[in-house]
Amino acid sequence: MTGPAPGTPGLRPGSERPLTPRASAGVAARYAEIILPIPVPRTYTYLIPPELGSRVVPGARVVVPVQRRQVVGVVAAVDAAPPVPTVAAKAILAAPDAEPAITSSLFALGVWLSRYYGTPLGLALRALLPGALWSVRRPAGPAEQVERVLALTAALPSLLERERAFKRAPKRRVAYEALEAIGGSAPIPHLIARLGLSPAALDGLVAQGLARYTDVPRARDPFAGMSSPPPPDLTADQRRVVAGILATPPETPVLIQGVTGSGKTLVYLDVLRSVVASGNGAILLVPEIALTPQTVARVRGVFGDQVAVLHSGLSDGERADAWRALRRGERRVAVGPRSAVFAPVERLGAIVVDEEHESSYKQGTAPRYHARDVAFERARLEGARLILGSATPSLETLHLAAGGKVARFELPDRIGARPLPPVEVIDLRSAERVPDARGVPWTVALDEAVRGALGRREQVILLLNRRGFATYLQCPACGDVPTCPRCAIALTVHQTPAALRCHYCGHEEPVPTVCRVCGKETQRMRGLGTQQLEHFVGLRFPEARIARMDLDTTSTKWAHHRVLERMAQGKIDILLGTQMIAKGLDFPNVTVVGVVDADTGLHLPDFRAAERTFQLVAQVAGRAGRGPKGGRVYVQTRAPDHHAIRAAAVHSVAQFAAAELPLRAPPNPTYPPHVGLARFVASHEDAGRVQQAAERVAGWLVRANTERLSGALSVLGPAPCPIERLKGRWRWHMLVKAAEPRAIGRVVRALGARARGVVVDRDPVSLL
Ligand code: ADP
Ligand code: ZN
Repeated sequence: MTGPAPGTPGLRPGSERPLTPRASAGVAARYAEIILPIPVPRTYTYLIPPELGSRVVPGARVVVPVQRRQVVGVVAAVDAAPPVPTVAAKAILAAPDAEPAITSSLFALGVWLSRYYGTPLGLALRALLPGALWSVRRPAGPAEQVERVLALTAALPSLLERERAFKRAPKRRVAYEALEAIGGSAPIPHLIARLGLSPAALDGLVAQGLARYTDVPRARDPFAGMSSPPPPDLTADQRRVVAGILATPPETPVLIQGVTGSGKTLVYLDVLRSVVASGNGAILLVPEIALTPQTVARVRGVFGDQVAVLHSGLSDGERADAWRALRRGERRVAVGPRSAVFAPVERLGAIVVDEEHESSYKQGTAPRYHARDVAFERARLEGARLILGSATPSLETLHLAAGGKVARFELPDRIGARPLPPVEVIDLRSAERVPDARGVPWTVALDEAVRGALGRREQVILLLNRRGFATYLQCPACGDVPTCPRCAIALTVHQTPAALRCHYCGHEEPVPTVCRVCGKETQRMRGLGTQQLEHFVGLRFPEARIARMDLDTTSTKWAHHRVLERMAQGKIDILLGTQMIAKGLDFPNVTVVGVVDADTGLHLPDFRAAERTFQLVAQVAGRAGRGPKGGRVYVQTRAPDHHAIRAAAVHSVAQFAAAELPLRAPPNPTYPPHVGLARFVASHEDAGRVQQAAERVAGWLVRANTERLSGALSVLGPAPCPIERLKGRWRWHMLVKAAEPRAIGRVVRALGARARGVVVDRDPVSLL
């Protein structure tokens, strides 16, 4: 037998079980159960060499042989039962962690991730540590940058001693007293370059036994040199919310629902300040796109060098340094996107999830976790306070707040009593367009608003959130979009064979030639993209400085920061782009915001289409009027009466939720937050094989549901995914819904462990 021996999963404390003596060596052989970062739901048993005994503890990383390779794994349990036969166990090769890399509470979080999302434990644990710590070539992680420091080792308290020690070395005495004055130790470059001390004098102190050179780790911190202004004083509203949160029992999660520009960030920072003051650490999650140097500066303004910033733009070395500084307790506050929810913060006192409704908190590969939901679990496991914040909270969170499971605090007004900008809804079906607009939906009203702002040297933001496809059918006269009778999502137009098809349940109907509502002839919608819009706006306003921001223009590390920097400096007149420009931007000179086509996402075949549209329009509207000049928002749509548009136009979350929640409950097709949801996606290069695979999985789901889950699930599909082909693979999916989370958990775990080539996505945020 050459492979590692199987064991059982789970973290067990080093229990006092009798040790099995090893006949050959005559000493007690000890075994450990190791989890490997591979999609296999089991552990492997390895022998613990006696010299590694003290380091092989639960949560520690180890290097182990697997066939002819070496792999970094994590210890699940020690003093495991010996494998049968005993000779099958290979020995652990190395144990690089002096302290286990994964603490017991993070390990417990990994077990939860694995069970909840149906991901093998090895893959769940892999998500907990920075990639560099899984490298076999350098299991200790990238080398730390060290810095040479000179530290005094002997005190010379009396003047007489000093006179004697430095009788013939006045320069040495200067160096000694300089070091003494700055606290007894300092980096060499500082002593030489800044204080002008001579290297010979420093060497002399060492030779005399009065000082010693040491190397200390220095964290690479790309934000270290940034200026960080101290925060302003809290307003009365902010103080009320801070006091309310601190008076809430820490085990009750909190939602700060504050309009755009209400100063939520300062509330988070103030609550975290008291958490850190009481000796605890904290995590602040922000969407990747909002993790700008300005945001970091605001956090550093409060916490200074206690902050570790975890950013996807960091190098492996920088990331590993930040991780280590947190693990050692040298830094207390972690700031970062999604994966920062796993930051190894010591004595975690609070987790903040800013913009909790953001879909970028969902991870796209296994484990397909949602950082907000992980934050709930981590806060529970570690007794930390959880604070969610948004101007447009998700319906999931609003539902929890309505049920009393989350305590809600509101910030109803903007800072400085600035009003929220008025929103003008422009009906694209009837509004007058500029003469040479051709295919571009550019109305006279929006045109005049932009022209006016440019004339006053103010700035404009234009949003056009065009996805790669828009193949639903919309009546150009009345705006009606045919939807599935069973699933309440837009039907997709297919050409061969011609049909309208539902991409949740597979329902099909013929393509109508006249609108079912108004009787006009129907036509396919034509898509307008940001590039075409940029071209058009450039022709229309040749004197304006225009910048475009979308995935195509911001692929490099700091590209979008550079665009935003130029916007902040007033070097851009019109910023146009996709949803990227809707988030968190705070430019006081923006007085006009235009949503060029609010309907681009409204009819996507996704039950959250209305929610996304509401959030997007409300968020982008919130970019206007942040300064003393005020501002105005123009929303162009063919669905001016849609509840998402109407609620966004009055910046009302309550109005949107009141209209949308009943639409997801009986007698309508049920959807989250009323039920749990999981999605299973089969994909294959061969269109026939993928359909068969999907049908097999669907058959299994239906059987499991009737035979073992007493019909707790409703199973939809199989049906082709709305994006039917991606990267050369055909895609089909199934959905399961249930009011009972346990029923979903069971099928998710079973298929996650067994079905090869099927993606398991619990609580999916995209159904495309
Ligand atoms: P939100 O995240 O709620 O949209 P921010 O936290 O970005 O709002 O705050 C909006 C603006 O108001 C920022 O420019 C911020 O610096 C400013 N601000 C926040 N709180 C105060 C305060 N107490 N006094 C003065 N300015 C503040
Ligand atoms: Zn359907």
